[in-house]
Amino acid sequence: MALGRIGTAALDILIGEGCASCAMPGPPLCDPCVRRLAVIGADCCQQCGHPWPTPCRTCPQCISGVTQARQAFRYDPPMPEAVRSLKDSRRRSLAAPLAALIVQHVLPPPAGAVLVPIPITPRRRADRGFNQAALIANALGRAWAVPVEECLERPAIRAAQRGSSAADRRAQVAGAFRAVTPVPLHAVLVDDVVTTGATLAAAAHALRAAGCARRGAVSLARVVLPAEGTRVGGRTIHTGG
Ligand SMILES: [Zn+2]
Ligand SMILES: [Zn+2]
Repeated sequence: MALGRIGTAALDILIGEGCASCAMPGPPLCDPCVRRLAVIGADCCQQCGHPWPTPCRTCPQCISGVTQARQAFRYDPPMPEAVRSLKDSRRRSLAAPLAALIVQHVLPPPAGAVLVPIPITPRRRADRGFNQAALIANALGRAWAVPVEECLERPAIRAAQRGSSAADRRAQVAGAFRAVTPVPLHAVLVDDVVTTGATLAAAAHALRAAGCARRGAVSLARVVLPAEGTRVGGRTIHTGG
């Protein structure tokens, strides 16, 4: 397994695979694809980072237990291709350029904060060979000069998350994490993509239970739902579920 991973990484460096989105020869994400990424920017919920057309005081997307979360991009094309390439095609060389993109658009955490990557289950880690959130957290830690501590673990998978409703996902991930080493007083969780926020909320819950007083989060991208009340495909969107 270890030799396989080293071999894959070496091949990635020697041959290169071109752009993860459009396959153009060259860097892991080409400039035109980087320019297509949808930056979230400052017009977002100041707590959870969800972009809204106008500032809101009662954000239905806020993440329980996380006081400040930020995501660099919307999870719109070509971001899904880049994330799938990192996770499913195991292109670990994408982690550093993706982290560099976060650094361009998200302010570093305040002094004293520690980055805590969201863990994956041991089985998924064995399958993939790495935890993508840890790769991104380590690259962020180097760029921001912030320590990284892998102080959480995710013991077992309860059910597949893809395709589930927000309520299903909250139920699936509640209690999914536990602290395995002493936790920092101020933790900033690191994950690749925020979907409903249920995973971050569950990890924040585990940190809080272990004594972490202040919990933030930084992620590459966020699945952005249509605004409450907008009509999509003939039906009205309600995001409170
Ligand atoms: Zn490209
Ligand atoms: Zn919010």
